[in-house]
Amino acid sequence: MNINALNELGKQETSLNLFSIQIEKLIIDEHAVEMLLDYVSKKSYRTIKLITDANIWNLYGQDLVKRFNQDHLLPTTIIAENKQGDVVADERAIMQALLETPNEVDVFIALGSGTIHDITRIASYKMKVPFISVPTAPSVDGFNSMGAPLIINEHKVTYQTQAPIALFAPLAWLKDAPKEMIAAGFGDMLGKITSLADWTFGHLSANEPYSEIVANMTRHALNRCLDSLPLLMSHDEKGIKILMESLVESGLAMLMLGQSHPASGGEHHLSHYWEMDFIKQNKKQVLHGTKVAIATLAIIEYYKKNMNTLIENDEMDESSQKEIEKLIAKFPDPKLLKRWIEEIGGKTSIADISVSPNLFEESLSHAHTIRNRYTMLRYINENKK
Ligand SMILES: [Zn+2]
Repeated sequence: MNINALNELGKQETSLNLFSIQIEKLIIDEHAVEMLLDYVSKKSYRTIKLITDANIWNLYGQDLVKRFNQDHLLPTTIIAENKQGDVVADERAIMQALLETPNEVDVFIALGSGTIHDITRIASYKMKVPFISVPTAPSVDGFNSMGAPLIINEHKVTYQTQAPIALFAPLAWLKDAPKEMIAAGFGDMLGKITSLADWTFGHLSANEPYSEIVANMTRHALNRCLDSLPLLMSHDEKGIKILMESLVESGLAMLMLGQSHPASGGEHHLSHYWEMDFIKQNKKQVLHGTKVAIATLAIIEYYKKNMNTLIENDEMDESSQKEIEKLIAKFPDPKLLKRWIEEIGGKTSIADISVSPNLFEESLSHAHTIRNRYTMLRYINENKK
């Protein structure tokens, strides 16, 4: 991915101002660790704050710290798990990261999952220093975006903070990630089918800000990921690399827009709703992408069932009506998506993740209120009699 080329492309957008990407390195490579060490030694960083979790610390963190140059100080925070054994990006974790960070910190490293990245993103932003992303699994598309979805007072709130200054993803680690995490990354990508449709819908029916360039980037990432399905199903290294590149590309699209519209629609709102309920009930968390995959299957069905009749009776202009009908007609058969997820090793039903039928029904009627975004989920709820 050529960042300069993307920034040049971004300048061609006429409908709104896109942000220029400030990430210096985007490396997904078997030699990513060496490249990270080289990158850090060329900077004048002295105090490097490492944020990780216990599992990743044991797997990779301890060895990684030993490989840094002796001039570097590497105070490490291993984010404590909650009572359910989960690492959650909540007040407790953020406070731990901040309290354990020396004031003279020069840079943070997020070593691990999406949640570790969200904690690091907000902590580094509040300390007014950059952070370096070192993902250990291709599980989510938020590593290199600006948004930090946090759980504050048991409520999911996304803060726009900062993107990493550089990303180094060691390919061998990504490939060795648990298959649920790989399937979750694929699930987060599948969610772009409905998020892109919701974004177009929001633009046509409620004039939400829209960029064809950004939408095309996200679509490109989704299509590349789908084209590599056979490789992904066999957990081939090439497939894993393409999945990670797709996730990164989707993150870059959000970064250029400065919002998550292209990558997060009704399917993400369902997923967030379930997540908040799990937190309130003290239930063990489910991977973000696992929830998004299941929510995508469900919401395609829901949109197909409800949208056409509502649109037919809507007083909107005819060309928008036709466009929206096309969006619905283009949705793939959820049964096909379900098979893909299963073959990669992911879960596909609400029962698999203990979302009760009651919670599911409730989320269909209320999840659209989580964010002020004009999705088809919101439209159905506001217009259905
Ligand atoms: Zn997502």
